[in-house]
Amino acid sequence: MSGPAEDDFEVVVRPGFALTLALLVLAYTALHAYAGLVGGEPTQFVASLNWAAGVVVLVLLGTTLHELGHVLAAVAVGHRWTKVVLDAAGLGVVIQPRPHGWHRITRSLAGPVVQVLVGLPMLAALTLEGTGGQLSISTGRLSVWWVAGASNLLLAAVNLMPFRGWDGGKVLVGISDLVAGRRS
Ligand SMILES: [Zn+2]
Repeated sequence: MSGPAEDDFEVVVRPGFALTLALLVLAYTALHAYAGLVGGEPTQFVASLNWAAGVVVLVLLGTTLHELGHVLAAVAVGHRWTKVVLDAAGLGVVIQPRPHGWHRITRSLAGPVVQVLVGLPMLAALTLEGTGGQLSISTGRLSVWWVAGASNLLLAAVNLMPFRGWDGGKVLVGISDLVAGRRS
């Protein structure tokens, strides 16, 4: 009676999301400029900015697919995706009901697993950039694909850290559900 209708889907977009994207572009711009300086090949600001924009799009792609991984695992067991939130913390989804046991473990793992599956081919795409697939610090650090792939793998790994509310922490809660005898 007080809850939202069955088919309600909420999208929340906060200004912090745009700020986070802008800061990410600036951070990767600085990384590219720094790598150029260290490598003895200083880059133009616009070139670094373009490079950073490309990396951020690919990181956003990996992050979106990460969240859709959670959604897919949930929908597969009949749970409902009710909300998407874009804010300063990035991208998030809300799914109901709250899962337990195996459902919590698979839903929590699905995001990072998908992000790794997306990140690995990005690393491999380095071979498309005419370096003959030779990965060295100098070819790797300036490749949009390699840096985006490594960033997606890093994000997946960070999300798997066993902190409360993080994917890794939720896996642990699911395991403790199983230990307590609650399977789903
Ligand atoms: Zn996640």
